[in-house]
Amino acid sequence: MDTQKIINEGYISGLLEKAKEASKDDILKIIEKSKDCFGLTFEEASVLLQVEDDELLNEMFNAAKYIKEKIYGNRIVIFAPLYTSNECTNNCLYCGFRAANKELHRRTLSAMEVVNESKAIEDQGHKRILLVCGEDPKKTDIDHIVDSVKAIYDNTDIRRINVNAAPLPVEDFKKLKKVGIGTYQIFQETYHRETYKIMHPTGSKADYDWRLTALERAFEAGIDDLGIGVLLGLYDYKFDVLATLIHSDYLDNKYNVGPHTISIPRLRPAHNSALKEVPCPVSDKDLKKIVAVYRLAVPYTGIILSTREGAGLRDELLELGVSQISAGSKTNPGGYEEDDREATQFETSDERSVDEMLQVVARQGHLPSFCTACYREKRTGEAFMELAKDAHIHEFCHPNAILTFKEYLLDYGSEETRKEGEALLEKELNKVVEKKIKEETIKRLERLEAGERDLYF
Ligand code: SAM
Ligand code: SF4
Repeated sequence: MDTQKIINEGYISGLLEKAKEASKDDILKIIEKSKDCFGLTFEEASVLLQVEDDELLNEMFNAAKYIKEKIYGNRIVIFAPLYTSNECTNNCLYCGFRAANKELHRRTLSAMEVVNESKAIEDQGHKRILLVCGEDPKKTDIDHIVDSVKAIYDNTDIRRINVNAAPLPVEDFKKLKKVGIGTYQIFQETYHRETYKIMHPTGSKADYDWRLTALERAFEAGIDDLGIGVLLGLYDYKFDVLATLIHSDYLDNKYNVGPHTISIPRLRPAHNSALKEVPCPVSDKDLKKIVAVYRLAVPYTGIILSTREGAGLRDELLELGVSQISAGSKTNPGGYEEDDREATQFETSDERSVDEMLQVVARQGHLPSFCTACYREKRTGEAFMELAKDAHIHEFCHPNAILTFKEYLLDYGSEETRKEGEALLEKELNKVVEKKIKEETIKRLERLEAGERDLYF
């Protein structure tokens, strides 16, 4: 396949250059247009990426908030990463797991240890896990991933497992599909070839094209729930964000369904990293702009925010269109049972517990959701997008968020969170307009109070 056709660097740089000519009026028109929720052209997204003026940025932030509320309501989906291994034969300069880091405490969890970690995550109240591992053909091959997923589903109440792992051939993706993963997620890190080459000097990850085409192989294997992103800080973020939008559009055109989520990881200090400084720093203001541009450009794509970011900024980004957040995260295998700084991939920044995080989320007027219903009801890929674009998704997601948050409050909530949470749930219930759904939700809340679990629409 000619991957230059997917990402044409000259085209991207040309768009960004031309975008500098846009007037204030042009920018305001683009922001206004975005509120129709039909997304933006690449030209329009480039113009917004060039905005530096605070007043205009505020207009973008307001539009992002408006679109987020219109499409997703005030729900925020909660998840936790589970690192099954930090063994890796690649040498990504920025990562603590790189093979050349001889000081890292290496460990690959057995299926039993994976189950113990999952139970520790579950004890925080989580229902959704993102399974993550290094790339080592002997230690973290497809069997390791499949066995880990199986062990979690068979031995815990975790309801959905997403996977972030190295690119696979089609036959291995089929095994992932068969074992019932939710989203398959992979970050291109940077779409800029030359920078990619420098950052990934050896190992199989040095192959840019094999990585770029991973999502197509996943799709061919039947996985239609896909996540993408770039590692912000490696190269000019404007280039990489625009390239992400182009990649997303390419997949959408080819398979009639674009990526389900875009992640926004920003480079963090890593134990023994080969990068002594961030090559292309992305400021907090830039990150807010990036979230807003994604929300305006691809309104139906979820945006995932991890604990790489600090508490204050995370709280602000929640307002701008983020739809999923991790909480209470550890980035070393075995980390939920025993923290070992010398085994981590990178330093997390937001150290708040799940319960503390939920209090903040609820206090800000967002509704935390532990829902996993769409995936279990096979509302994924094209089927999901159709529902989302018709806004029917609200009919399921909102009551499901209410029910799953209620479960959390009953089983794991601290007294303070329960107080905040119950007040929020009452308000949310009043927002359910469809009479039948409201009555059924009330009944199900009572059933939860009486001890039943896992009720969803
Ligand atoms: N090993 C697989 C790979 O590289 O695709 C999958 C998991 S890797 C542990 C997950 C992601 O962590 C990478 O894609 C990269 O974007 C991110 N990452 C690595 N080092 C990081 C750092 N120092 N700061 C922030 N994110 C980092
Ligand atoms: Fe290995 Fe992934 Fe880290 Fe690269 S980013 S060194 S592939 S774990």
